[in-house]
Amino acid sequence: MDHASAISAPSQTESANLKLALGRILAHHIVADCDLPPFHRSTRDGFAVTAAQITSGHPAHIIGTVRAGTAWSGVPLRSREAVTIMTGAPVPAGADAVLMIEHAIRSGDKLTLASGREISAGDNIVAQGAEARGGDILLCIGTKLTPAEIALAATCGVITPTVFVQPKVAIFSTGDELVDAANTPLPAQIRNSNAPALAAMVQSVGGTTSLTQNLPDNTEAIAAALQTAIASSVDLLLLSGGVSVGEYDLVEAALARLGAEFLFTGVTMQPGKPVVFGRIAQVRPRPLYFFGLPGNPVSVQVCFLLFVQLILAALAGAAPSLPRFALATLDEDLKTKPGLTKFLPAFISSTWDSARVRRVPWQGSGDLTANARVNCYLVIPQDCEQLTRGAIVSVLLR
Ligand code: AMP
Ligand code: MG
Repeated sequence: MDHASAISAPSQTESANLKLALGRILAHHIVADCDLPPFHRSTRDGFAVTAAQITSGHPAHIIGTVRAGTAWSGVPLRSREAVTIMTGAPVPAGADAVLMIEHAIRSGDKLTLASGREISAGDNIVAQGAEARGGDILLCIGTKLTPAEIALAATCGVITPTVFVQPKVAIFSTGDELVDAANTPLPAQIRNSNAPALAAMVQSVGGTTSLTQNLPDNTEAIAAALQTAIASSVDLLLLSGGVSVGEYDLVEAALARLGAEFLFTGVTMQPGKPVVFGRIAQVRPRPLYFFGLPGNPVSVQVCFLLFVQLILAALAGAAPSLPRFALATLDEDLKTKPGLTKFLPAFISSTWDSARVRRVPWQGSGDLTANARVNCYLVIPQDCEQLTRGAIVSVLLR
């Protein structure tokens, strides 16, 4: 999927409200507007002291208090002077350590070190600028705003970050058997579950769905709908269904009519084998990419994780976003037919020091029920015939 690196960021940007900017992609660097922390910060409730002067035998003299939100207004601490200090407060000049309350013995305004405890210069203080210096770039263009980045932006006073305009995605669901999820299917019909799933996945990668359409298994109708989308301002076409080898799998034919360039047709994997990817040049400033996804709901979701999110993230202006894999210990023996790399619905349970995974029974790639019970896909390599319990295996996280 080298194409992701060839895609340039959106040319348009907009201002976002930081509180509503979850998932948006930064269109500018965020720079520290001051040192972080902005002052020598105490990380404990205790006493600001000069470490070398605090011994169990010789008490220091407590001369005042400094709490979070206030600064020590007195002169710098002199020999054997200490100040009561709270977490988050600026350490007064003259002190070089904070003796935590649990390690101190206080008697009136006399302070000594509890026996068996030690204190060294720098203890329980984060020095001004230790996290970042004013002027440092803290978040780069292309960063996706998750809660961690939103907190950092807020700390830098950026409350209306400039973000890239979200790429617009058209979702086409092909299949004569489909009815909208709001409708009651007739016998032999099913509700369209791919369109809402795709819209949700598009949203999770920073895109927006600008068009959703159900299409019949008819080459002319599919080509006409695609032509309309091409003429509009969409940035990515996602089609589901109709890319297999059946007599009514007409998506590739419809795309070919529009002069599509196919970059791959089919992948040696299961589910998702028939997936196609390509672009349509036409008269646009940049090519319009498309995916033809197999109709089976699990295929759609696996293909999205493996391929679509990469392209969509690039169209959104985001730094490369690769599928997330993890290693886990297999909790069962299993046999499998070699030939295709498999992604089997599975459940990974992890504790702080181990992760175990086992498959969940399923009826194949149309099994939405099983798919909703899992939290990952167990990856079985193409040439693998069997795996034994205890093997270290890879899982595709979602
Ligand atoms: P196809 O790829 O068109 O051969 O479809 C494969 C399977 O996926 C068939 O059982 C279809 O009924 C089912 N399917 C296709 N599109 C959808 C959709 N949008 N929602 C749910 N199931 C679908
Ligand atoms: Mg079909």
